[in-house]
Amino acid sequence: MSEASTGTGGRMRVINPATGELLVELPLAGTEETDEAVARSVEAGPVWRAVAPADRARLLRRFATGVEEHAEELARLETANVGKPIADSRDEIAMVAEVLHFYAGAVDKHRGDTVPVAGGVDLTFHEPLGVVAAIVPWNFPAAIASWKIGPALATGNTVVVKPSELTPLTALRLRDLALEAGVPPGVLEVVVGSGPVAGARLVEHPDVAKVAFTGSTAVGRTVMAAAAATIKRVTLELGGKSANIVFADADLERAADAAPAGVFGNAGQDCCARSRMLVERPVWDRFLDLLGDSVARWRVGDPTDPRTQMGPLVSTDRQAVVGSFLGSGMGDPGGGDVVPRFVGQVPAGPGAWFPPTVVAPADPTWRVAREEIFGPVAVVIPFDGEEDAVRLANDTTYGLAGSIWTRDGARALRMARAVDAGNLSVNSNGSVRVQTSFGGRRQSGFGRELGLEALAAYTEVKNVFVSTA
Ligand code: NAD
Repeated sequence: MSEASTGTGGRMRVINPATGELLVELPLAGTEETDEAVARSVEAGPVWRAVAPADRARLLRRFATGVEEHAEELARLETANVGKPIADSRDEIAMVAEVLHFYAGAVDKHRGDTVPVAGGVDLTFHEPLGVVAAIVPWNFPAAIASWKIGPALATGNTVVVKPSELTPLTALRLRDLALEAGVPPGVLEVVVGSGPVAGARLVEHPDVAKVAFTGSTAVGRTVMAAAAATIKRVTLELGGKSANIVFADADLERAADAAPAGVFGNAGQDCCARSRMLVERPVWDRFLDLLGDSVARWRVGDPTDPRTQMGPLVSTDRQAVVGSFLGSGMGDPGGGDVVPRFVGQVPAGPGAWFPPTVVAPADPTWRVAREEIFGPVAVVIPFDGEEDAVRLANDTTYGLAGSIWTRDGARALRMARAVDAGNLSVNSNGSVRVQTSFGGRRQSGFGRELGLEALAAYTEVKNVFVSTA
């Protein structure tokens, strides 16, 4: 199914990927509509900045409460549009509200300094940037939009969200809920348009001060290059090929039990997916036995069933892309056969289904072991000792996330420092928390979202010297 058309005046068919059913048809914004949204956002800037800090905080809290009150509706919308299990959508919408509450609390706490200098008084202000374009992917549409909306609005910016053309529905509802909460018109705009038209226009627009981009490394590269023309601020949250490192001394049952969620969660369409499992050789056989059992237990099916752990891919186009990593002759450069060791179940019938798939052992040079697949495919690679684990974990152009499973606390810390990634977890596969910073290293991007660190990404320090002579 090719859901999105591009270009000014086009229309977009928004599809439920679990059923193939048409959810809604929307007009696509072209350059003109995008410019109009930016103009409204520019106009709303002084209005938003004139709102007293405590009142801005109140409005964001009311917005958060509105999300909580409409949580089930938003969760169902996300599940229908993305195909993700309803349990996941409920968690993600709860996170949207938590993000808004968190940054509501930060509105009047992002303070400047007074700096000791000769001849006068020196002070700093953390000033908003202006209009922020938030360009968002389809895998966590509402949650990732909120990671940008929360800190940007809290610090006095106005925001134009461009959701993925595949998944615009929750962003549109969030805009309505912001208005209903009393956030002034224009402060939060949503432009539903294609990447190459509406997205590219936001990146080149002279009145947009910053682009907060989450998406693929390939598109991130073009965004960064295009932003150079207007010296736009850019933060990039891009792809990953994260390692899940299991040492022989780990709680193997726990590591194997957690592994499917770490890589097959959101049908593998997760930038933090632990898609390279590195297993220390002495426990290879035992871990693979346990992993086979846990993959077999992983429940794939109807996303509206609260027990479902994995739904379909976001579109049927993606099935072919994910499938292209597997099969005979796909073990390049050697050209060997990439034959899965475990393949889970998928429902029959329509929908963009792809089974959970584990390739073990995989050669680290194979494409399946090197590229971000963005589907439910994991490779397992053996290693010999800590040094080898670090070498393999860092043998990638990405640096987003990773896990270390061991009972040796000192080793856990050594590994956490040695693995070149922005977010590491020990004896856990969790990467994202509202209170802590999130972001990549190397070609996984730069800039930090979430936590108090995100406030710096939406403000600039102004320095003022007042002579007392
Ligand atoms: P994508 O790069 O194709 O699209 C992301 C967004 O960019 C969409 O809104 C799209 O319309 C827009 N876009 C496309 N072309 C553009 C252009 N020329 N100019 C401006 N905007 C443009 O990514 P996707 O397929 O939607 O999402 C999957 C990717 O996102 C994966 O690579 C994944 O790893 C990454 N991702 C990263 C994070 C993170 O935080 N690091 C989180 C989620 C997803």
